[in-house]
Amino acid sequence: MSAAGGVYRAFERGQKSGCDSILVFTKSNRQWKAKPLTDEDIAAYKQAETDFDIHPVAVHASYLINAASPNEALWEKSYQALKVEVERAGQLGIPFLTVHPGSYVKSDEASGLAKIVAALKRVLVETAVSAPNVTLCLETMAGQGTNLGYKFEHLAQLLTEAGPSDRLGVTFDTCHVFAAGYDIRSPETYAATMDEFDRIVGLDKIKTFHFNDSKFDLGQKKDRHAHIGEGFIGREGFANFLNDPRWADHPAHLETPKTKEDEDGSEIEMDVVNLATLRSLIK
Ligand code: ZN
Ligand code: MN
Ligand code: MN
Repeated sequence: MSAAGGVYRAFERGQKSGCDSILVFTKSNRQWKAKPLTDEDIAAYKQAETDFDIHPVAVHASYLINAASPNEALWEKSYQALKVEVERAGQLGIPFLTVHPGSYVKSDEASGLAKIVAALKRVLVETAVSAPNVTLCLETMAGQGTNLGYKFEHLAQLLTEAGPSDRLGVTFDTCHVFAAGYDIRSPETYAATMDEFDRIVGLDKIKTFHFNDSKFDLGQKKDRHAHIGEGFIGREGFANFLNDPRWADHPAHLETPKTKEDEDGSEIEMDVVNLATLRSLIK
């Protein structure tokens, strides 16, 4: 949900779209710098949190952060930005911060994973006092470019080597997992994928979901989100998650385009449509 004008503004936008839970950025997602949160910012947020029946809130970290970077300066810059993200979530009392594990760029998978482990270990120590209740959720990735985290084994390695810690978890993105080659479309393939995740990572590590359909087919490693039911995953894939009692209390967030043009050129608010589609799939 857009946090333009202050993070607290996301609550009213979320309510307008009919959300039970929202995903926000606490700073610009395409800039390194962030103005520190003031006491007023924090108070406005806490007020909105009591005024609106929307919880929990999750934060998405900046897209610029690359904790797998082989470039020392960029790694340090990414690390500092990640730490600031955790601290801001802590200041606002937000329980989940989702971050993309990172891209190894010109190094290799093993080196990239080692870099991420180093960043996670350090951030867990350095925010143990300032943000003890923030869980860092590593997002499952599509495997586009040199992205890490598209194999369940990557996530297992990161969680084990940087932890074990109660402050580490996973955000399960349906589009990304599907793009990475794990099928979730039928009850059978869904069950097999979740069993595999359980065996390798552990289902208890999943803290939040991103519900996005996929513009590309299974295993294409393309990170392109489609509206629910309009992509290659399809409605039945989402019904598998929505009717699985294990996820009854887990927040799920849409990262699909906000609007779509109608045939007559008018704009449709797609969060409302996608939420209605998802809710209609609950048996
Ligand atoms: Zn993401
Ligand atoms: Mn996502
Ligand atoms: Mn994506």
